[in-house]
Amino acid sequence: MDFAPDEDHEQIVEAVDRVCAAFDDNYWSSCDTDHRFPTEFYDAMAKGGWIGIAIPEEYGGGGRGITEAALVLNRIAASGAGMNGSSSIHLTMFGLNPVVKFGNDRLKQTFLPRAATGDLHVAFGVTEPDAGTDTSRITTRATDDGMGGWIVNGRKIWTSKALESEVVLLLVRTDHDESNRFGGLTLFLADLDREYVDISPIPKLGRNAIASCEVVYDDLPVEGWRMVGDRGRGFQHLLHGLNPERILLAATACGIGEVALRRAVAYAKERVVFDRPIGANQAIAHPLAKAHMELGAASAMMQLAAWRYDHDLDCGEAANTAKYLAAEACFFAADQAMQTLGGLGYAVEYHVERYWREARLQRLAPVSQEMTCNYIAQSVLGLPRSY
Ligand SMILES: Cc1cc2nc3c(=O)[nH]c(=O)nc-3n(C[C@H](O)[C@H](O)[C@H](O)COP(=O)(O)OP(=O)(O)OC[C@H]3O[C@@H](n4cnc5c(N)ncnc54)[C@H](O)[C@@H]3O)c2cc1C
Repeated sequence: MDFAPDEDHEQIVEAVDRVCAAFDDNYWSSCDTDHRFPTEFYDAMAKGGWIGIAIPEEYGGGGRGITEAALVLNRIAASGAGMNGSSSIHLTMFGLNPVVKFGNDRLKQTFLPRAATGDLHVAFGVTEPDAGTDTSRITTRATDDGMGGWIVNGRKIWTSKALESEVVLLLVRTDHDESNRFGGLTLFLADLDREYVDISPIPKLGRNAIASCEVVYDDLPVEGWRMVGDRGRGFQHLLHGLNPERILLAATACGIGEVALRRAVAYAKERVVFDRPIGANQAIAHPLAKAHMELGAASAMMQLAAWRYDHDLDCGEAANTAKYLAAEACFFAADQAMQTLGGLGYAVEYHVERYWREARLQRLAPVSQEMTCNYIAQSVLGLPRSY
């Protein structure tokens, strides 16, 4: 791995920072308060070509790796946009990876060029109320219609961006496979056709510019060519995208931690109590120093994981470790930032409470800290399976 400064990466950082600079704290705060999708920001990212950065060049994308996609999401989050910014583009940027890897030609030709320009909004529908983390228990079902197509019925929860999205990468049950509890599941790129699909946002703590929704599928017709990869292998196809997703989320979490820390340091230098800046007190300074070191360690692990993925090396351990460390470092930094600002840390006007609400999410989704530890315990340390 090369640690020398990379001119190409510096140019990406500079260019993304320039786009983000047009969207200030008040923009993000009002999107969050009003529960409004950041359309202007999304359009600016699309215009700059950033949404298609990781889509292959033959479909009009930038053909770059996870390393560069992570850089983009990190800069967006660190600009102060946090997840309200990164989640607006994340799924279009990377959500179609299973289509790139396993999709048929028609799927790729129809959807990837539109995703690359940002014209296509994509959602991701896996989680269900009664299955939770145990994806093998999902019950949303696609039934063969006898004419080469499928009819989908069931209920998903937490489908982010369902309101804006034209299509959803949907994991459903097509068969029962007695020999494999993750068998019998199939992926489709289905239309979120409001005639057959009912979408209701779930009121939640943070990242309110991006709604996450309950989605009820009632006899949704899906044409046969919209199946992604093989019937019954949907879970395996999805697994392929999990490591890069963890890397991208780790990059985002580091960005949220970075902006929270930046705000805290600036405040600690300026705020005078008992005739001295509060940053002169080690009780304030040391946690901020610790947050800085922890974010640095998480970021280095994230870059290692991204480098391994882009070089076709096994990256499960590094990606899961990065996701875990970044979530902890992000929350610690945001929490210490709130403590540093005192009462004002709790005021909407100072933005730290917005980062804090998003930082808490890092420990829960898209994979919880417990499930990440389960992976490391079982797959890296060889301990007995617990789930
Ligand atoms: C804001 C937000 C956006 C989301 N967006 C999407 C999306 O776009 N698409 C989508 O499909 N999903 C989405 N999700 C769902 C998310 O991926 C799940 O919430 C997450 O995977 C955890 O699943 P669960 O909520 O069902 O928790 P559960 O599975 O019910 O688990 C509850 C708790 O028990 C713990 N636990 C469970 N089993 C074990 C075990 N064996 N060992 C140790 N601990 C265990 C878990 O770690 C967790 O802390 C989103 C969630 C949120 C909050």
